[in-house]
Amino acid sequence: MTITIDNVAKTFQAHSALNGVSMEVSDGAFVALLGPSGSGKTTLLRIIAGLEFPDQGSVFFDGADVHGQPVGRRGVGFVFQHYALFRHMTVFENIAFGLRVRPRRARPSRSGIRDKVHELLKLIQLEGLEHRYPSQLSGGQRQRVALARALAIEPKVLLLDEPFGALDARVRQSLRRWLRRLHEQIHVTSVFVTHDQEEALELADRVVVMNHGKIEQQGPPDEVFHRPANAFVMEFLGNVNLFHGRIEQGKGVFGPLVLDRNGNGDLRNGDSRAARLMVRPHDLELLDHANGQPSLEAKVLRVQAAGALVRVELEAQGQFLQADISHERWRELRVAPGESVFVSPRESKVIHCVGSRGSRCGLVTCGSAAMLTPHLGQRPSASGITSVLQVRQRTVSMGPA
Ligand code: ADP
Ligand code: MG
Repeated sequence: MTITIDNVAKTFQAHSALNGVSMEVSDGAFVALLGPSGSGKTTLLRIIAGLEFPDQGSVFFDGADVHGQPVGRRGVGFVFQHYALFRHMTVFENIAFGLRVRPRRARPSRSGIRDKVHELLKLIQLEGLEHRYPSQLSGGQRQRVALARALAIEPKVLLLDEPFGALDARVRQSLRRWLRRLHEQIHVTSVFVTHDQEEALELADRVVVMNHGKIEQQGPPDEVFHRPANAFVMEFLGNVNLFHGRIEQGKGVFGPLVLDRNGNGDLRNGDSRAARLMVRPHDLELLDHANGQPSLEAKVLRVQAAGALVRVELEAQGQFLQADISHERWRELRVAPGESVFVSPRESKVIHCVGSRGSRCGLVTCGSAAMLTPHLGQRPSASGITSVLQVRQRTVSMGPA
């Protein structure tokens, strides 16, 4: 089933929850709606389900407007963050529920229901637990039962609203892989809501990044990660080091770092304007001495080597920076906390904004540093950096398994 959302808007008591959202979920796709809390993800999912109605715009299922079609007729399966299992019913009864409440003509026979429940128990890998009550299951098992219950009615669309939000990090990760495999088996068109960028990037074929009731960018995971459309997407999809500087002679000047465009976009039309530089921690190169390449001196604050990469926390001109480097590179550098290193961005994004209050912003991919041409008069001074870094911690929610 293909879902088309056309220019949907929704306001709650003068508060705009969705503001002109258009997107398409193609048949059999697995799409993630990703955005911070309050960005309108749940509202959009509820509108697709028919639990909420848009003030403006339309929703189409396979090209047909579903306006006015009640939830029960839309053929959607819904899984929520908080297990909506019936506590007084066994696993078997919970899964069978959607079939048992059908009108008599549409209801399968007793043996038909039994076969369907057993087929689903096998799919969610909980065979043998059908007589348990929800209180006798772990959080991860309950969410699998919730999924089986949603699938029992053979929905045309599966809608999942932060289904793993209340589970601990390890359980989340294994359920994520499991759900991905399950989707490859059953191919039901699915929309998955999450505020966790890792979850969205790992699970979905397509990621829709939302903010303040609008879509900031949509595309395949690698595209939104490597080619963010704007500063919000860049910051939301991972940690970034943030520098403030200017554009001069078509180059980004951030203290001693001078950057040239090497990808999308153009810096020339931003001349003499304030600009921001964003560098992912893995794109910040560390050097043990200034090797002629424009770089910024920084002091090592802390080294965290327990991971696939070594996380080096640094301070440059009173500001915090983070570099993620390989263990091999770290062994070569051998710098102790308190000692100096030089940092240089391998790849970065320069953002410059024009228009009233920066209404139009360009995001330009820049490569390793290059000096400004001599006729500019003087070399830029290190004091050009006015402020540095925002590291967004990864969202890992802890809770009962
Ligand atoms: P998300 O799921 O991305 O966290 P929501 O779709 O739940 O966001 O909410 C978007 C905005 O709409 C929020 O500011 C929220 O407070 C508001 N909102 C959602 N539902 C209602 C409601 N029933 N009444 C009033 N405001 C609501
Ligand atoms: Mg929500």
